[in-house]
Amino acid sequence: MLSQQELIHYSRHIILPEIDEAGQEKLKQSSVLIVGMGGLGSPVAMYLAAAGVGHLIIADHDTVEQSNLQRQIVHNLESIGDSKVSSAKTTLQNLNPWIKITTIEQRLEASLLDDAVANVDLVIDCSDNYLTRFALNKACVGQSKTLVSGTAIRFKGQVAVFNQGPDSACYQCLYQADNFNDESCEDQGILAPVVGVVGSLQATEALKILISIGQRLDSRLLIYDALNTSFKTIGITKDPACEICSHR
Ligand SMILES: [Zn+2]
Repeated sequence: MLSQQELIHYSRHIILPEIDEAGQEKLKQSSVLIVGMGGLGSPVAMYLAAAGVGHLIIADHDTVEQSNLQRQIVHNLESIGDSKVSSAKTTLQNLNPWIKITTIEQRLEASLLDDAVANVDLVIDCSDNYLTRFALNKACVGQSKTLVSGTAIRFKGQVAVFNQGPDSACYQCLYQADNFNDESCEDQGILAPVVGVVGSLQATEALKILISIGQRLDSRLLIYDALNTSFKTIGITKDPACEICSHR
């Protein structure tokens, strides 16, 4: 049940007939794993916290550095040197004291990764490297958890939703594991609000999925080009030879 204060806090959600009190209650009962508390994880976690997702599990092994603050808006000058998850938890809990936040201050690998994925309704990939993205994809395929994926670099961003249906592609169908270059914002640069756009799109898809409304971005890749101000969407087809999802 939502308290009187929560009803006021979420009133602009509840007034939407697609959400209503029942949808808001669903959000309160939901748990989401957010992997990475950097440029993408910042807006994702802040919007999901403010919007009332009842349990957020945030994972990152890193600490806050000054050069992060140009875009990682969940952190601030006072959190330099602190772990990203504890810095983020402070911000999120200030935004919304009625939700629960669990922090994982380790690289999500092996059984830790599997356990984290097993205990949530939805997984959001806000990581910055392919090794983590592939491992997270594998865990989500293995446990049939919907994965909201996002990436951003320079002036471009991408978002996709993988629902783990029998005919659906997985992240690895899109990017073969042995055929990629790991580029990072540290090496390549990133225009600050591009991560905000991509993260906001991820948070929007996550809320739609949790409440079961609208047409989701399942098996589609949304590509944002900030320099040319364009969005385009392309279909993602399943790779019948994909070593991760072809046997399900
Ligand atoms: Zn696949």
